[in-house]
Amino acid sequence: MTTIQTARKAQVTSVFDIERIRADFPILKLQVNGKPLVYLDNAASSQMPQQVIDRLMRYQSTQHANINRAVHTLSEIATNEFEEARRKLQHFIHAREEREVIFTSGTTDAINLVMHGYGRKFIGRGDEIILTTLEHHSNIVPWQMLAEEKGATIRVVPVNDAGELVIDDYEKLFNERTKFVGVMHVSNALGTINPIKQMIAFAHAHGVPVLIDGAQAAPHMPVDVQDLDCDFYAFSGHKLCGPTGIGILYGKTALLERMQPFKGGGDMILSVTFEKTTYNTIPHKFEAGTPPIAAAIGLGAAVDYLSAIGMDAIYAHERSLLHYASEQMARLPGVRIIGTAEHKAAVLSFVIDGVHPHDIGTLLNEEGIAVRTGHHCAQPVMQRFKLPATSRASFAFYNNMAEVDALIVGIRTVQKVFL
Ligand SMILES: *Cc1c(COP(=O)(O)O)cnc(C)c1O
Repeated sequence: MTTIQTARKAQVTSVFDIERIRADFPILKLQVNGKPLVYLDNAASSQMPQQVIDRLMRYQSTQHANINRAVHTLSEIATNEFEEARRKLQHFIHAREEREVIFTSGTTDAINLVMHGYGRKFIGRGDEIILTTLEHHSNIVPWQMLAEEKGATIRVVPVNDAGELVIDDYEKLFNERTKFVGVMHVSNALGTINPIKQMIAFAHAHGVPVLIDGAQAAPHMPVDVQDLDCDFYAFSGHKLCGPTGIGILYGKTALLERMQPFKGGGDMILSVTFEKTTYNTIPHKFEAGTPPIAAAIGLGAAVDYLSAIGMDAIYAHERSLLHYASEQMARLPGVRIIGTAEHKAAVLSFVIDGVHPHDIGTLLNEEGIAVRTGHHCAQPVMQRFKLPATSRASFAFYNNMAEVDALIVGIRTVQKVFL
């Protein structure tokens, strides 16, 4: 280990105090069905620390007005706070410029923006779009709508039995008709961390831009969009300790400038006459109408909170949770983990022989344990594993080892009831 690594490690261990972190989250004090809440549905939505709740309250009680329009004091404050939040997000993902950060209503909205703004302008008849078997529906359906409208074709990267993308097959899909690649950074259904840097480099060697669905990565690991060299990167605030109704689309300036607007309306124009409308510059060209100002400022507070803990420390803690939980679960007879990729984030999808996933979720809930059951908005990957559904425990940095133990005890209880 170099001195820097040693120093960093020491810093990580000293800063990461799990019980102090847990104390920041009021919801973790709840009882559900008479048991302490064990919240393991973080891949669907994460919880908010008091710092973010307080920030929202301060904005609403002392700073709220519409932005960009008036000269009065409150409007100026709100505008400054909103733009300050954009800068916080810029630094969080290491974007080169703040205008590369567009506020959307979430990952789904961000991907639809790229489909309308880029896809409808630059993808045509006979062109090909590469997606993967792992994708969330929100990175499939918009591209299917585009393909149907334009007469384009979708090509799909397969996955192996561990839930990893088959990169040889990905590379074989490229030809002169390939115009776009959409791939998720981390799988919400299986936890697989995809080798996106390598995939992006390969696509760029063929002159093809790449959109990364980062909904499950941004909350769990450091993200550096310049290092990845991705063209677009999308994620949601509500999975990142922020509010619902807010998300981010990062896009490279050169691409955003060539794109057409997605939604028309106020704020996205410079001038309007019935003869001709001139669009505003980026990012405003893509932010029509009054944005979710409070949510954007809340998300800014959320990334401040996460950055103070450190995304490296968060990643390290979640890795130990994943290792511990995987080991414990592997020891349970009749329980099978779905998704055993070498590089995995803290998502554990599993099935129990003889028990329907829905019943697992219901019985765990009786123990106060929140997991998700179903297809996780990723039906193609469920079909790949010939499963209608799985149960999924997904961890956040505020989960602890005792909660893993509670999950394992909960699964044993489920097995006793059914077997
Ligand atoms: C949650 C999720 C989405 C959709 O996010 P919304 O906030 O619902 O728009 C897209 N992709 C992945 C991988 C997700 O986990």
